[in-house]
Amino acid sequence: MTSGAAIEDAARSIRAGRLVAFPTETVYGLGADAADDRAVAAVFEAKGRPRFNPLIVHVAGRGEAEALAVFDDRARRLADRFWPGPLTLVLPRAPASPVSWLASAGLDTLALRWPAHPLAEALIRAAGRPLVGPSANRSGRLSPTTAAHAAAELGQSAAMVLDGGPCRFGLESTVVALGDGLPILLRPGALDADAIEAETGPLAEPAPSAGDEPRPSPGMLLRHYAPDSPLRMGAEAARPGEAMLGFGAVDGDLNLSPSADLAEAAANLFAMLRRLDGRGGIAVAPIPERGLGRAINDRLRRAARG
Ligand code: AMP
Ligand code: MG
Repeated sequence: MTSGAAIEDAARSIRAGRLVAFPTETVYGLGADAADDRAVAAVFEAKGRPRFNPLIVHVAGRGEAEALAVFDDRARRLADRFWPGPLTLVLPRAPASPVSWLASAGLDTLALRWPAHPLAEALIRAAGRPLVGPSANRSGRLSPTTAAHAAAELGQSAAMVLDGGPCRFGLESTVVALGDGLPILLRPGALDADAIEAETGPLAEPAPSAGDEPRPSPGMLLRHYAPDSPLRMGAEAARPGEAMLGFGAVDGDLNLSPSADLAEAAANLFAMLRRLDGRGGIAVAPIPERGLGRAINDRLRRAARG
């Protein structure tokens, strides 16, 4: 079990940009400061995900959540009824939200949850930061439901693994998107959809995924950020009218990482694409196809296809 001193240690690690595995009532999460681009990039690197998908941002309080995203009446009603608990709300990002663009994979919505676990709440409060917390397993493997599983999966990448015993649900949170129209069940999970419908009325089925975008899991809708401007990969220089996004020695209007560091490039990717968007086009320097470079190129390829 975990002492107050261990939580203070863990909170210091989070504030220093390091990763801490922590228990929630659903599964163990790999926690990092959601407002720290480099820490979020380190989460993707540790999980070895071949692509960037948006992460859930964990908070400990409705007020904290409302500083990050825009709540309407339905969102408030659901939060009042089910938080803390295994319900994730996807809401419009607040204009001044400090959350990393990498955490939301460039989307202007945020997935938020207040977990019902005393250690998770204590860590979030002690760190004084919202935490990303995808399941603490390497990509493609089972979500850990004990501290020992989490340590075996990702102990190497985490500064600490907080032990809160076995998870009560052992199943991911239910994800509901609130926008215009009916609420959409993006992912069935530990909170029964019937309980949500009792608050909101009928939930809509997710729309079919766009184009050849694979569905990461059945019943889950994932929209991907793509810039409005046409994007050209593997560019050594900009053509007339294009903005240039550099990498390493191939410089540009902005440079993902002048030192050719892929974690730095991942951390900057979405924020820089957004800054260069709206011009005639975006030319992107070649990115090596290794480590986080694979996920960066995956995202650029999708954007290049429009
Ligand atoms: P995980 O953190 O790995 O348990 O999974 C996060 C879940 O939330 C995935 O199903 C994501 O697709 C979903 N998610 C997170 N952020 C968003 C978002 N902004 N829009 C839609 N789905 C999201
Ligand atoms: Mg997972």
